[in-house]
Amino acid sequence: MLKIHLVGHTHDYPLCDVVRLLTGIIPRCTDGCITVETEWEATIRSEVTESEVLTALENGPETSILGQKLLRTSLDGERTVDGLPISRALKIQLYTLLSELLEKTFPWGSLTGIRPTQVARELSRPEEMTRIYGVREDKAKLAFLTRDGEDQVLMHTDPNHLHVYIGIPFCPTRCAYCSFIAQEAPNKRELLPSYVDAMLEEMDRVLPTITRKIETLYIGGGTPTVLDDELFTRFIHGVFAHEAFQHLKEVCVEAGRPDTITHRKLEVLLEVGVTRICINPQTLCDATLLRVGRKHTAADFEKAFELARSMGFTVINTDLIAGLPGESAEEFCESLSRIVELAPENITVHSLSKKRRSDLSREEIVRQEKTDLLKMEKMLSFAFETLSEAGYVPYYLYKQKDTIGGHENVGYQKDGTPCIYNVAMMSDARSVLSFGAGGMSKRVYPEGESIRVERCSCIKDPIQYIQNVQNMAEKKIAFFKEEGTEND
Ligand code: SF4
Repeated sequence: MLKIHLVGHTHDYPLCDVVRLLTGIIPRCTDGCITVETEWEATIRSEVTESEVLTALENGPETSILGQKLLRTSLDGERTVDGLPISRALKIQLYTLLSELLEKTFPWGSLTGIRPTQVARELSRPEEMTRIYGVREDKAKLAFLTRDGEDQVLMHTDPNHLHVYIGIPFCPTRCAYCSFIAQEAPNKRELLPSYVDAMLEEMDRVLPTITRKIETLYIGGGTPTVLDDELFTRFIHGVFAHEAFQHLKEVCVEAGRPDTITHRKLEVLLEVGVTRICINPQTLCDATLLRVGRKHTAADFEKAFELARSMGFTVINTDLIAGLPGESAEEFCESLSRIVELAPENITVHSLSKKRRSDLSREEIVRQEKTDLLKMEKMLSFAFETLSEAGYVPYYLYKQKDTIGGHENVGYQKDGTPCIYNVAMMSDARSVLSFGAGGMSKRVYPEGESIRVERCSCIKDPIQYIQNVQNMAEKKIAFFKEEGTEND
């Protein structure tokens, strides 16, 4: 059992993130004590006093190379540690201590948040990121490079404008690694028309009350193109009947699964002016596709890609995932090289997020992680180098919890074709209005130099969403109501 006693502070949340990263287990926190069920025993004290922040290993595994260890840093007059908030200083200390104890480091060091580029914005050089947070040099450089790419995009968007997301949480089958709310469409055929009607009703109610200009629209999921030709046509025509969507800077539609793409669906998108889509193979290795439950082949992807290109789609994004079950580094690299030959404008490279099992012994976890980590390193550095050579630059980056090795997801673009919505959404610096089950709307309020973000969630279950669509619409109308305006 690993125990961390919190003394003189209540920063359990960021410390739990560090423990989760290092042990792969979700910790519990009760009465000021974080606990994790490990086969080994250790007790740590994480303390804030009047004058300092300290983290002490009070007793550790006999095999520990450390024995007793104490990290301490003085608080200054502002009650910060070298300009850092106390919570960050505690995180850095705990990361340093646990990484020595468990004999492992992570490429992003003590940064467990989803937006490392935000930290890069607070610093002036990658070396500082390495020195303060223990971020590896290549990742610190990636964070700064991507920060610049994100800033370029944000510079050309108006903070007072809105970005809209429409979500269709259905897919032809459920991928083995899926962590979204997507359901298998073949089992829900009778539900799909009602779901589309509910979303169109939600838009009919909410959009006329929105006074802000809408800059971008992203139709995602799930897989929106899982709807059959007729329903997809009705849905797209219904969406684009809205005046609010007539003067958009960008529209992107996910046509994720290549086996759902038809000539008619692409034609409908072109009719309403959509020329940016995502076709996401995740891998071009048929054995992996079968293993993860995606019922399409690499040939299906190439056929769909060529069709979209020949019909006039000018910006195509393709997603790949590094670390898919049973896939070798060579298979991943081969997929990436084949994708680069097709020359999509955007390529997004994800790191597989997987829950690690808490019943493995520490030795097993360490052994398994070492193999996985080496493989991930090889895949991600190949991706960065190959894409850089082919003229792609990273333009948005985020991390998810429980990715192998705490790695990142990176969106690359070439020829100045970044997806504005992706940056707006991930930056937390722009307001997003979401329609559909499970969508998260957010509203950004500037507060002096910084910003405050408020969120408004939507029911996740599609059936309950259909039954409660009026309530959901009213909730969003109230959420986006501007000061001094009457929405009703
Ligand atoms: S395509 Fe995406 S949303 Fe659909 S099941 Fe697979 S991972 Fe989930």
